[in-house]
Amino acid sequence: MGIIRKTRSVKAVLNAFERTETALSTLELVERFNHQMNRSTVYRILERLEDDGVLHSFTGQDGLTWYALCHDDGCSRSHHLDTHPHFQCRECGKTECLPIIIPIPEVAKHSVESASLLLVGRCSDCVS
Ligand SMILES: [Zn+2]
Ligand SMILES: [Zn+2]
Repeated sequence: MGIIRKTRSVKAVLNAFERTETALSTLELVERFNHQMNRSTVYRILERLEDDGVLHSFTGQDGLTWYALCHDDGCSRSHHLDTHPHFQCRECGKTECLPIIIPIPEVAKHSVESASLLLVGRCSDCVS
C-alpha cells in the first residue's frame, strides 16, 4: 500500500473491502456510509485508493462503477495491463474478480492503456 493518508473515513471504506470477497458498487458504498460521510467523500476516497493502486474499478452491466481490492502488488492506475476479467451474476447481482489472467495482445502502432472484460451469467450459488 502506498502513501495514502489513513483518515477514519479511508479506513472505514478499506474495511468494507477487506471484509468481502466480492466487488462493491458505488451505489452500495454510498448507501452503506450515508451516516458517516456524503456521496462526494465516498467518491473521492475511492478515486484516491484507485490512484494509489489499492483498488481497481470497472463498469458493470448495470452501468454502475464497481470497485474491488487489488491483490497484485505493484498495481497502479498506469499499470493495469495484465488484467483479469470480472463476473456479474444476473440473478443475485454478486460481482467478483475472477482469478484468471488474460494477456492483453500487443496491437501494432497502438498504445493500450487499459482493458476490461465483463462476464455475465449465474454465479456458483445461483447456477444449480
Ligand atoms: Zn448469483
Ligand atoms: Zn478485479
